[in-house]
Amino acid sequence: MTTYVWFSCPPASVSSMIKKVYSNRYLGTLPKGCKLCMKGAKLVVFVSGICSKKCFYCPISLKKKNKDRSWVNERPVKKPSDVTHEAIRMSALGAGMTGGDPDLSLEKTLGYMRPLKKEFGKKFHIHMYTSNALDKEMLRKLKNAGLDELRFHITDNGEIWNSIKNSAEMDMCTGVEIPVIPGQHDRILEIARKLSGIEGSFLNLNELEFSETNLREFKKRNFELKSETSYAVKGSEETALKILALCKNFKLNIYYCSSAYKDSVQLRKRLLRTAKNTAKDYEEVSEDGLLLKGVIAVEKPTLEKLSALRKNLIKEFKIPENLITVDKEKMRLETSVEISEKLSEMYKKRGLKYFLVEEYPTSDRLETDVVPLEVSE
Ligand code: SF4
Repeated sequence: MTTYVWFSCPPASVSSMIKKVYSNRYLGTLPKGCKLCMKGAKLVVFVSGICSKKCFYCPISLKKKNKDRSWVNERPVKKPSDVTHEAIRMSALGAGMTGGDPDLSLEKTLGYMRPLKKEFGKKFHIHMYTSNALDKEMLRKLKNAGLDELRFHITDNGEIWNSIKNSAEMDMCTGVEIPVIPGQHDRILEIARKLSGIEGSFLNLNELEFSETNLREFKKRNFELKSETSYAVKGSEETALKILALCKNFKLNIYYCSSAYKDSVQLRKRLLRTAKNTAKDYEEVSEDGLLLKGVIAVEKPTLEKLSALRKNLIKEFKIPENLITVDKEKMRLETSVEISEKLSEMYKKRGLKYFLVEEYPTSDRLETDVVPLEVSE
């Protein structure tokens, strides 16, 4: 059986200084999983939407909730090797196993983790979320498959604490991660106290956010949006900051992760990393991690028609072969912004259309902007 060398876990430390990173705040040190996420280097593996809890604040989308389907960086997983391929695509340095509850699909979770460790080695950092009490056998299986960091989501006060203790005693980096419900200082302080008492490493506090699936429950509770430009719940951040102030001398690392950070930094860094890794020679990477390119569309496209047009353009305008390709998926030609702009002026033909396109570097290649260039004759 493989034995992995575990990442050093930030020891629970007493800290009295609240530090700031982006719009987030923390006491002590950040967990390794969060540091990698901040670099955009964490692969997100949504193992399954199946979960035994019914949290009123559950943010999982309708597309994924209660469905036993896996996704990796928003791409559907058809076979286990899709997970490793996506990790290669973005040069990931680690992965987060999430859901639902990944432990309810334990074999699937282990089946994603083992190949990742095999491909990238023991330095590839894996963290996982659970809201269940895991027995020692499950913890051992996870550890042997390469789990470095386990984050417990506490929904009640039951047996989960034994699991947290056992996980920490097995030398896995162990912490708690929960959303901050406005006004719940006392409950969260109690969690922080208990966690520091059993040598837990960290407490992560997430700003509560509205989603399509929790909207109705939030309205019932009179929760409001923090601002017109944010999905964050008003009062969640204040509660988190108050907890940080009250925990200054606890022996625990505490990290508050804001909704603004998730929207503006976390996703952007992951896109940038993937875009830089996968951009073709003719694609430009925008500062938001999107791919910019020129597109040539033909009427009633066929592969033969597109290949012939490409050949012709290469010959007539001496375009380097690597700067113009047939996009079989979207049935069009792709090239650089500059070439597309020039061709739209110099090569006007009936049935040809030129565009500038901006798209996500994700597998669904979602287009965020399509600008038509001068219409051909
Ligand atoms: S434990 Fe997590 S996935 Fe399950 S219902 Fe609660 S928030 Fe949703």
